[in-house]
Amino acid sequence: MSAKWPNWLPIRKDLATLTPYGAPQVNAKVRLNTNENPYSLSRELQESLTSAIKRELADLNRYPDRDAIKLRTDLANSLRDETGLTLEANSIWAANGSNEIIQSILLAFEGAALGFEPSYSMHPLITKVVGKNWVSIARTADYEVTKNEIELAIKSDDAKIVFLTTPNNPTGNSTDISLIEKLAGGLMSRGALLVVDEAYAEFSSQPSAITLLGSYPNILVSRTMSKAFAFAGARLGYLVADRKVIEAIELVRLPYHLSSLTQAAARAALANRGALQIDVKRLSESRDQLAKALGELGLTVYASDANFILFGGFRQSAEELWRNLLDKGVLIRDVGLAGKLRVTIGTEDENRAFLVALKQSVRG
Ligand SMILES: *Cc1c(COP(=O)(O)O)cnc(C)c1O
Repeated sequence: MSAKWPNWLPIRKDLATLTPYGAPQVNAKVRLNTNENPYSLSRELQESLTSAIKRELADLNRYPDRDAIKLRTDLANSLRDETGLTLEANSIWAANGSNEIIQSILLAFEGAALGFEPSYSMHPLITKVVGKNWVSIARTADYEVTKNEIELAIKSDDAKIVFLTTPNNPTGNSTDISLIEKLAGGLMSRGALLVVDEAYAEFSSQPSAITLLGSYPNILVSRTMSKAFAFAGARLGYLVADRKVIEAIELVRLPYHLSSLTQAAARAALANRGALQIDVKRLSESRDQLAKALGELGLTVYASDANFILFGGFRQSAEELWRNLLDKGVLIRDVGLAGKLRVTIGTEDENRAFLVALKQSVRG
């Protein structure tokens, strides 16, 4: 048993050695470490959120709509605009962030879970927390998922839940839709699910895996309003999947898990999504500029389809450079990859501040 826990505490043995999710919450002037949208909601949007929430207050003595039907209908309509596909509320599920979506999937379906690493650290962590085994398949040296890795995943018979993050966090690259289709087909034939984590889809130039749902009912697409939608504080994630998948998720959800305030706020944000799309475009342009500037400093830059960039090729260790930047008031992310750091795209001022601090650190 780990020394961390006292003897009187009957903590589960399989949890005792784990560490909780923890992006350091330090006070820095420029915070570019958790991939949030740096632009806060506009005045107009803040006002329509306030009115929407206000309308709920008289009914706060009552439980919320357990099935969040209106919100799921709005999400379906918003996705129809994005993909051109007709989706119904019964093929959408909504929860408190996509992490809750991931947990529900892992609670509802049997077998081990598998992922292509490095990738999002919560996939293996939640897998272990619910008591399942985690199977790791290494991405290539360039962090790609190719035919080889896909064949390995299809052959991993124990894994009934396969995670693929695209664009991938923390590396930023996307997996081609034809490879996703191949993976889904292989998994379908042995009764396994493919969970495509599209937390950064709005920043990507690739088509969404939602477009494959009609042919492969074993695809589950997980999305979030935390990144592109500038809504991380409100906690709203959603799942797009076959209605039988959604029915299975309903078995494991907690009653009234999504508060009426969250449902109302998310609906108001969706009604104003046009304004957010402008920010997404601006962030994608800033990303390309920042990637170019990092390249000009002689650093190794990984091509990104998301709102962050992974880079390496500096002479210090990742820990040292991370600390140097923090001393200069800029917080970025050490993702545990040797010699590499990840920076979230901020406002233009924040990106400039990061570049100034970085230049001093890598040259100084
Ligand atoms: C940020 C992130 C999420 C989780 O977002 P929520 O805030 O819980 O919706 C899920 N997957 C990936 C890959 C992420 O980077």
